[in-house]
Amino acid sequence: MKYNRTYNFSAGPAMMPEPVLEEIAAEMLNYRGSGMCVMEMSHRSKVFQQIRDEAEADLRKLMGIPDNYKVLFIQGGGTVQFAMVAMNLMKNGLACYVETGAWSKKAIAEAKKYGEVKIAASSADKNFSYIPDCSDLDIPENADYVYICENETINGTTYFTLPNTKGKVLVSDQSSMFLSRPCDVSKYGLIWAGVQKNVGPAGMAVVIIREDLIRDDLPKFVPTYMSYKTHADNDSLYNTPNCWAIYCCGKVFKYLLANGGLEAMNARNEEKAKILYDFLDGSRLFTGAVAKEDRSLMNVPFVTPSKEQDADVVAASKAAGFDNLKGHKSVGGLRASIYNAMPKEGVEALVDFLRKYEAEHP
Ligand SMILES: *Cc1c(COP(=O)(O)O)cnc(C)c1O
Repeated sequence: MKYNRTYNFSAGPAMMPEPVLEEIAAEMLNYRGSGMCVMEMSHRSKVFQQIRDEAEADLRKLMGIPDNYKVLFIQGGGTVQFAMVAMNLMKNGLACYVETGAWSKKAIAEAKKYGEVKIAASSADKNFSYIPDCSDLDIPENADYVYICENETINGTTYFTLPNTKGKVLVSDQSSMFLSRPCDVSKYGLIWAGVQKNVGPAGMAVVIIREDLIRDDLPKFVPTYMSYKTHADNDSLYNTPNCWAIYCCGKVFKYLLANGGLEAMNARNEEKAKILYDFLDGSRLFTGAVAKEDRSLMNVPFVTPSKEQDADVVAASKAAGFDNLKGHKSVGGLRASIYNAMPKEGVEALVDFLRKYEAEHP
């Protein structure tokens, strides 16, 4: 490996494509003859405006975002969206949430500050190891939206079929699966994603929102910055945005477009995940923590028979040059996050390591 970089299995911030990092490095001191780094640029300058506009245009191309949706770049990472969604979309004061793990629980707790939350389905009964059946949810007539976390980063589950929302607006947290597979945006009212999982640097969320959901009759308590309309009316330049994150994400969008787009990413991700899941399915020592039909292609939690052995594997993996394989504290065990930028060779190397560990621990 050219730069002696580690295979980083972090759930986020996570790996970025190496060619993108090289380009960023090359442009660091003088961005395309501007005489400055993107970090030093006015967000009102022509040169930055072009960076922003291209990032949006490339994302629209990549996902096939219809014209009646706005693309917003908003600071505060993912967590701010838990509040913004509820503040902006709870018109009747009632929303349905599907509870599938740590991140949907956080969204639910936040939404309860602004209105009534109905848990339409939950997988809490089995420690969030599966996605509940959402084909016939009990959705009240006055519900403003149905909310899902489409890929639970900590629990390792993902939806392969979207809920039947019975005509209500679907809101999805796509943070840990954003751009990992094709997405029919028209099925959603709002998609949001914190970018540090599968795209770029932390501190920003991309929000894709259908225009008719942008309101100008929000309650007075909603801060100006927390209104989607503020960002939509100002091309995400109401105040100084996270220019650096927009720039880096824009690079990744271009990289994905040049490498076959989301169909190609999906094929790569399926291939990578299969290598790891096939190993886990055949392993005596390691067990996958999630129902087979709901397994995430991005975050793969697994366990050994004991906490002590989990910790031993994590330590041994670190010594072998792998990073961030410790499972989240709420779930324990191990977790390999294998986002878009994790090369297939990284997953193969991890499986080789786990196989060897298993052989040495009969
Ligand atoms: C990481 C994550 C978040 C929170 O993102 P922050 O930027 O740390 O606030 C929310 N939802 C999901 C699914 C995540 O993986």
